[in-house]
Amino acid sequence: MTTAIVWFRRDLRLADNPALTAACQAHAHILPLYIHSPDEDGEWAPGAASRWWLHHSLTHLHAQLRGQGSALHVAKGDSLQVLRHLIDRTGAAAVYWNRQYEPNAIARDSTIKAALREQGVDVHSSNALLWCEPWQIETKQQGPYRVFTPYWRTLRPQLESPRPLPVPSPSRGVDVGGGLSIDALELRPSIRWDQGMEEAWTPGEEGAHDMLDLFMDDAIGDYARLRDLPARHGTSRLSPYLHFGEISPRQIHRQMLDRVAATDARRRPDIEPYLRELGWREFAHHLLYHFPRTPTANFNEQFNRFPWARKNGKAIEAWQRGRTGIPLVDAGMRELWHTGWMHNRVRMIVASFLTKNLRQHWLHGARWFWDTLVDGDLANNTLGWQWVAGSGADAAPYFRVFNPVTQAQKFDADGQYLRRWLPELANAPLPLLHEPWKDPSLLKRSGYPAPMIDLGVSRDDALAAYRTMRSG
Ligand SMILES: Cc1cc2nc3c(=O)[nH]c(=O)nc-3n(C[C@H](O)[C@H](O)[C@H](O)COP(=O)(O)OP(=O)(O)OC[C@H]3O[C@@H](n4cnc5c(N)ncnc54)[C@H](O)[C@@H]3O)c2cc1C
Repeated sequence: MTTAIVWFRRDLRLADNPALTAACQAHAHILPLYIHSPDEDGEWAPGAASRWWLHHSLTHLHAQLRGQGSALHVAKGDSLQVLRHLIDRTGAAAVYWNRQYEPNAIARDSTIKAALREQGVDVHSSNALLWCEPWQIETKQQGPYRVFTPYWRTLRPQLESPRPLPVPSPSRGVDVGGGLSIDALELRPSIRWDQGMEEAWTPGEEGAHDMLDLFMDDAIGDYARLRDLPARHGTSRLSPYLHFGEISPRQIHRQMLDRVAATDARRRPDIEPYLRELGWREFAHHLLYHFPRTPTANFNEQFNRFPWARKNGKAIEAWQRGRTGIPLVDAGMRELWHTGWMHNRVRMIVASFLTKNLRQHWLHGARWFWDTLVDGDLANNTLGWQWVAGSGADAAPYFRVFNPVTQAQKFDADGQYLRRWLPELANAPLPLLHEPWKDPSLLKRSGYPAPMIDLGVSRDDALAAYRTMRSG
């Protein structure tokens, strides 16, 4: 009657959880464990919004396990020490976990694996987070891909959609006592700025499936068009659930195929644009795995010579608070602050504004996103920021500077998104809403700021800086 520890990390679900399933199949007793060890994440310890999410996700997982007659044992501190202590207490013969791909996590897990094996404990790790391991896709020269399209051309035909693993029949939980409450981890903010997130999200495995159902009912068929309209719920909003492993790409893929098969099989191509976005997520993990320095270093080293403007704390703060005077930038930054999430098109626009119009280093933006996004994800955030800044693998060319006015006119033509997040401009008429500075009396009446920078001049300055780098 052996016991195993299942170490939950970014796989906070019971279904399609290979580590949990394997442990339940091989052992009579299971200790489900979560260890809070932010120091082990180095400078990328979860930000404030992610901690909020984590609190609720752990609470949900604990309740699910309770429903099975088990419980989540919560601990904090050095992961290896905690594991050793619990192995002593339970006599566990094995530890199971699902893999993470951040450089710090890889280093920690390798150390722990070696140490536990040396003391005679079995260690099993699996893939629960991705469709495909980052090292499984290779170029013909057996190296990593640097460009998305050929990467996806290689990955897409290999994607299978096996039935996801069911929730395993519960092995008897082990109660060792001495665990912490989730509250004791102090993941939630002491000053309550989280009401907006409470209203917007239901973290946890059930919330993930509800969100997927909603998306499949409302938007999947028209995703390719709707995904660019920030006022609409035209994207899945599954990013935080995917980040915390409350749902897996395999489950999403399978459920979409089943839905299409049950309704209209001719609509199968409709899901391809969505699968391709999940492909970008895979690609981001592929890059992070092969180029682990890129969360802080330019992927394209030519950008080491880029003449960024000196750090401008006031300008960065205006951007963070949504007070730049550029409506689409401000709406996006306020959406982020309020809900912990921002629409993808708007992420590109606010990032372009920061790195090109304000010429502030992309890391200032990446760090702010890291702290405020509920889906803050080292692979995706690094890819996103380096893509927009032009310094990344397969990046947008630097000379592509998003114009936030024409972008708003195109993707928020009726101003619904702007009115939602800029209440002081809610009654501004079109077309002024897109360029409120054209009526100084509107700015005065509404209290909305004048633009902090001239979009045309700052764009020209950015392009000149780029030319300096290229000729340097
Ligand atoms: C500057 C910048 C920073 C970003 N930071 C993050 C981040 O920290 N975490 C994060 O999950 N995404 C990040 N993204 C990618 C993207 O904006 C979000 O994944 C997307 O907006 C999430 O909304 P959704 O779930 O409705 O997406 P959907 O359109 O429904 O897409 C489905 C899933 O595909 C993945 N995906 C979609 N677009 C991308 C992309 N461009 N790159 C990688 N994966 C993608 C996500 O997991 C997403 O949940 C960033 C993009 C930019 C431009």
